[in-house]
Amino acid sequence: MFKLSIKETEANFKRNKAFIRIQTRTDIISATCIGQLYVVEMDKPQLTALITQSKQKPTSFATWHRHLAYARVEIIHQMMTENLVDRLNVYRESSISKLCENCIYSKHTAHPYNDNKSREKEILECIHIDIWGPCQVQSTGGVLYFMVIIDGFSLYQMVAFLKSKSAEVILNIFKSFHTEAQC
Ligand SMILES: [Zn+2]
Repeated sequence: MFKLSIKETEANFKRNKAFIRIQTRTDIISATCIGQLYVVEMDKPQLTALITQSKQKPTSFATWHRHLAYARVEIIHQMMTENLVDRLNVYRESSISKLCENCIYSKHTAHPYNDNKSREKEILECIHIDIWGPCQVQSTGGVLYFMVIIDGFSLYQMVAFLKSKSAEVILNIFKSFHTEAQC
C-alpha cells in the first residue's frame, strides 16, 4: 500500500485501486488502475453530492448582487423568475436594500469646475491666506505654525514661520507682504 498526503486530503493506492480521502475519513474519489493510468469512477452519487454542495447552498440576494457585477435588482429577479441562470439559489426571505452603498457611490457624478470666474485685475485686489498648525513637534527655533500668503493677480507669495498665530503676529506679516507685493 502506498499513501500520499496533502493537507487534509490523502490518496491511498492499494493493488490496482486508488482512493482519495478527506479528513473526515470519507472516500470522495476512487479509481481503478487500467494499464498505467488510474481511471476515476465518476458515477459515485456521494462524489456528485460533495461537488455540488457549495453551489446548492442558498445565498443572500445581496451576495448575488455583488457576484453579478452589481446587476440591477430587476435584472436578478428576472434571472430568477425566468430561470435563466443555473443554481441561482437565493434565500426566500432575502432582499437587497434599495440603498446599496457601492451602487450609490458608483453612480455619483460631479459637475466640472467653472473656468469663467473673474480674475483679479490689479495687485493686492485679492489675497489668499492659509495658516497651518500647530505642529506636533516644535522646531528648534520654536516654530509651531506656517502661513502662506498669495497675491491673486501677480501670484507673488510669501511663506512665514510662526511661533504663534496671534493677531499682532499675523498683522505684522501682512504688512510685510503688503510692502513686498507692490515692489
Ligand atoms: Zn449595489
